Amino acid sequence: MIQLFVPLGFLGFIYREIREALTNIERLFGLLEAPVKVADAEDAKPLQITGGAVDFDQVSHAYDPARPILQGVDLHIPAGHTLAIVGPSGAGKSTLARLLFRFYDVGGGAIRIDGQDIRGVTQDSLRQAIGVVPQDTVLFNDSIGYNIAYGKPGATEEQIWQALRMAQLEDFVRRLPKGLNTQVGERGLKLSGGEKQRIAIARVLLKNPPILILDEATSSLDTHAERLILDALNLISQKRTTLAIAHRLSTIVHAERILVLDQGRVVEQGSHEELLAAGGAYARLWADQQREQQPQG
Ligand code: ATP
Repeated sequence: MIQLFVPLGFLGFIYREIREALTNIERLFGLLEAPVKVADAEDAKPLQITGGAVDFDQVSHAYDPARPILQGVDLHIPAGHTLAIVGPSGAGKSTLARLLFRFYDVGGGAIRIDGQDIRGVTQDSLRQAIGVVPQDTVLFNDSIGYNIAYGKPGATEEQIWQALRMAQLEDFVRRLPKGLNTQVGERGLKLSGGEKQRIAIARVLLKNPPILILDEATSSLDTHAERLILDALNLISQKRTTLAIAHRLSTIVHAERILVLDQGRVVEQGSHEELLAAGGAYARLWADQQREQQPQG
């Protein structure tokens, strides 16, 4: 009886772990209601990273066949570079990230990483290569240490502290009486949006992936918290191929290249200065946001 009990208990543990991990990943992209439909091809091979270049070639996608979301999107990020995506709400920005993570297969065109179509590689190797800092980080009901080491099972305490330092969270955790063992999540310490996002940054630092998806959500933070996050994001995106989804233009003024998406199409690309000078969609978005930030009087 005892012999049976132990393996069953262990299976239950594994099941809970897997379910929690899936729930977490799916929540990153607001996908809880959407069944994940992709599967590895029979001859799927592990992704071979040579630098981490990301290419979308004429990518189309529709969640519902009657309503196209992305239409013929061309997007190229050379290895180690950053591309910021801006555009009105509903333009399809997060959809680009979901397709790169292969939550869905493209309806048309192809996404390649270092020249390999992501439909031909194992999902496991693809997801190992990509780190995500989502808008809304979901924490496990476990310790801070566990929540960070989740990025790299088997990480040492020293590595966890180093990740915390780089994510600008070290002082915060050192001040907690239980330090890394502090329980967080629904049944533990409640963290602010900015602290949770820095936990996600620390996870990514430990995972050390060549490709990053950043979903910048700094709108609810005060200026100091926003500065901490932006500094940490700048740090982790160095030398990694980064797709940065920006909801507020002020956060990407210094991005080397910005792509403007509108109704599922690429309408403009360039630096902040180039796009302002062009006087098109980006210049209009910029003017709108500047107006919104004016004090009401
Ligand atoms: P925001 O800045 O508001 O987050 P976004 O540019 O990231 O917007 P997406 O989340 O990519 O926009 O959504 C693009 C369109 O696809 C929206 O009209 C949205 O309603 C639709 N959409 C997103 N997810 C799904 C889904 N799982 N099923 C059906 N439609 C969806």
